[in-house]
Amino acid sequence: MDKKPMLAVSACLLGKKVRYNGDAAEFRALTRKWNGHFDLVGICPEVGIGLGVPRPTIRLINDGNSIRLVNPKNGDDFTTPMLEYAQLQADALVESGICGFVFKKDSPSCGLERVKVYREGHVKATRNGMGMFAKVFTTLYPHIPVIEEGRLTDPSQAEHFLARVHFFSLWREEGHKGWTAKAMMQFHTTNKLFLLSRSPDAKRRLGRLIAEGFDNGDRPEVVALAYMSEAQKSLNVLTKNGPIAHTMERILGKLSHNLTKNERQEMLEVIHNFRRGLLPRSAPFTLLQHHIRRCELENPANQRFLSPIPLSLGLMARV
Ligand code: SF4
Repeated sequence: MDKKPMLAVSACLLGKKVRYNGDAAEFRALTRKWNGHFDLVGICPEVGIGLGVPRPTIRLINDGNSIRLVNPKNGDDFTTPMLEYAQLQADALVESGICGFVFKKDSPSCGLERVKVYREGHVKATRNGMGMFAKVFTTLYPHIPVIEEGRLTDPSQAEHFLARVHFFSLWREEGHKGWTAKAMMQFHTTNKLFLLSRSPDAKRRLGRLIAEGFDNGDRPEVVALAYMSEAQKSLNVLTKNGPIAHTMERILGKLSHNLTKNERQEMLEVIHNFRRGLLPRSAPFTLLQHHIRRCELENPANQRFLSPIPLSLGLMARV
């Protein structure tokens, strides 16, 4: 990968003092650990629509017809400015090449899930909303991976999200060279084990999507966009140990005739222990990588599966 993937981030998570009360909400894993691997771009939608710092709190209110973004103290309604800003800013961010977005949880502008929505005239809220900016962004660009910072505190969720970001970044780089049917199939082949390990059905479905798209005479960019939208939708669910172990066993099957009976047995045991949660993923990965190198069976698909994110992010030892 030539360039660092660009990640958009709710600006308060980057330590910018843009919250309603003049504080930040720095998420240190991003600003101090992973920052060397990504170009981080901070966005504060509420500052973007001209609300100052500090500012009155605003909330999502369901008026019976629609959800609006309102200052509950004086009734000022920011729905239209936020919708307009969100569309323009989302377009600009995607144009600039972002490969993912980390949103601040619980915010009426940035939250992705379980954001409080008040019914007009009621003091109690239901936690079933989505921040207005986040809603516009994810509706316009469903092929870009998104997450809230709260989920990134779990190493498995963090590894999976950052793997999705790198997958997207590779797709974007390929797209710069110009999509063709051949390039699309090549990309899918390179990523087939990665996909199989994260969303077993997606690999087959995406292969069919490419074939049908080109059979229908769709333009390559259209097929490529449909491919990434479908892929990211499938990858939105966190993978389990089972599909990862199954993918390792498939690779082992290809290596088997180069291994002794004992080596094969040892490899199977390590995979089995990983599947049961007794060993971290790095244990079978390291052993498998060793056998692949020794047997000179390195190929891009194995590589993508075994190195979904840079080792130096420090997450592979924790999943
Ligand atoms: S949550 Fe979003 S709108 Fe609120 S301060 Fe952070 S970046 Fe700004």
